[in-house]
Amino acid sequence: MPRIPCPSTAEEAARNERPSDYKPPSEAPIRLKVAVVGAGVGGLATAVALRRDGHEVHVSEDAPALNELGAGIQVPPNSLTIMHKWGMEEAIKAKSVEPKHLWWKRWQDGKIIANTRYKPEFEENFGVPYRVIHRSHLHEALHDKAVELGVKIHLGHTVASYDPERPSMRFTNGREVFPDLLVAADGLKSTARQVITGERISLRNHGFAAYRACVPVVEMKKNPLIAKSMDFESLCLWVGDQTHVMSYPIKNGEDWNLVITVPEQREPCQWSDHSKQSLSIMRSFYEGWDPTLIDILKLVKTTFKWPVQDIAPLPTYTAPSKRMLILGDAAHAMLPSMAAGASIAIEDAQALAQALHLIHSRRQLPEAITTWESVRIPRATAMQEASYRHMYTLHLPDGPQKRTRDRLMEKEVNDEHFIASPNQWSDPTTQRWAYLCDPAAEVRDAWEKREAGRDEYVVAKGEEIYSMISARL
Ligand SMILES: Cc1cc2nc3c(=O)[nH]c(=O)nc-3n(C[C@H](O)[C@H](O)[C@H](O)COP(=O)(O)OP(=O)(O)OC[C@H]3O[C@@H](n4cnc5c(N)ncnc54)[C@H](O)[C@@H]3O)c2cc1C
Repeated sequence: MPRIPCPSTAEEAARNERPSDYKPPSEAPIRLKVAVVGAGVGGLATAVALRRDGHEVHVSEDAPALNELGAGIQVPPNSLTIMHKWGMEEAIKAKSVEPKHLWWKRWQDGKIIANTRYKPEFEENFGVPYRVIHRSHLHEALHDKAVELGVKIHLGHTVASYDPERPSMRFTNGREVFPDLLVAADGLKSTARQVITGERISLRNHGFAAYRACVPVVEMKKNPLIAKSMDFESLCLWVGDQTHVMSYPIKNGEDWNLVITVPEQREPCQWSDHSKQSLSIMRSFYEGWDPTLIDILKLVKTTFKWPVQDIAPLPTYTAPSKRMLILGDAAHAMLPSMAAGASIAIEDAQALAQALHLIHSRRQLPEAITTWESVRIPRATAMQEASYRHMYTLHLPDGPQKRTRDRLMEKEVNDEHFIASPNQWSDPTTQRWAYLCDPAAEVRDAWEKREAGRDEYVVAKGEEIYSMISARL
């Protein structure tokens, strides 16, 4: 029985071939054999982070080809800093846009009600800019880096079952593999999650779905109203009762990405296939809204509906053996209202590489994984909570609460000094904890405390924060 899946084609084998004198950029004291499940952002980031340290990394992906959906993704400084450290600065910069602002607009007339300043403020404050990019370009950059480093990627390999204690996993084709460490980054609908938690965790519906679409900017500029009212170098967000539209440039500013959030009470599995009517259904939610938005939505030719779901914070991301773990959406799926899920997955990956760098024998692996988890649970839980809270803030109906929200954001619109804002992308406190996190430093700090015999503090910190936040959700 092969221990690690063989490449499925000769072409794949050639792509995965590395010269025998390959030197990792930074070598961990011990080299582990790591099996990663899922080639999304979380899985590929894990592969890059661990391979950079010299670990042998195999990624198994269910899909026969790597195809990210045609939509945009925001890349905030916390994850961009990490990808710069991985040598991906040029690849990301070449395909992304550094926006100047995020404008919040009032739903009925497009009046500016909030303003997050990205350029040059973010690079000055956080060392790297804020970026927006097509998902496939981010995915491609991670994939190319993984292949360059010698990660073995096995497409069309679906994991059917896990044994978290050995650890091992079995594919649908019957093959079984026995790595030192098993990392499942198998997304929102993770099957590994239940293996880790021991119970079925329900996905939470919050009454929303998102239509995603792209419009060519050249077409937008042909419409005089759109050309006059839009800032094509910034993000633009229309907010209204239970509904919002986030939009921004991607593909070096050639396309305009739209995330159109609408009320949806039914479970995604009950959605009927109304693809033919989906454009008119999507547009119907925006009758009476800002005429500029209505004109932009008229330019949308195709759209696809995406479920907006999350999970409640989990008490653990690791198996009792500490030789299998989950990360990314599998561990902490969150609402997209902070645009942070993929970024937190990239942090998970860097933190894991750092934890494995601290050990000198395989026997210490459980300690490293425990330390990683103690740092990652509070961090990801805090972002899940912030995302949940921000969705509520975005969707306030007309009324006193909304008027208070808008009044509290006036200073950022008027370019006055402010110390707090309900717009969490501008709020100075949120910005600091969200964007200035150094996951590797947090792991080193937690490890030192464990070494000094203060591990109780580290574990208690994670549990306290978890119970505090889950009580509020
Ligand atoms: C509308 C919307 C907008 C968003 N915007 C942003 C944003 O701007 N910025 C941001 O940071 N985040 C954003 N997010 C969140 C982000 O998309 C996710 O957090 C991120 O893509 C999760 O990556 P992942 O690798 O954990 O999971 P996924 O990308 O879902 O990858 C999981 C992979 O595992 C594979 N897989 C599953 N099961 C198996 C199996 N049994 N065997 C083998 N392979 C398997 C799947 O095929 C898939 O390729 C947004 C989310 C939504 C819904």
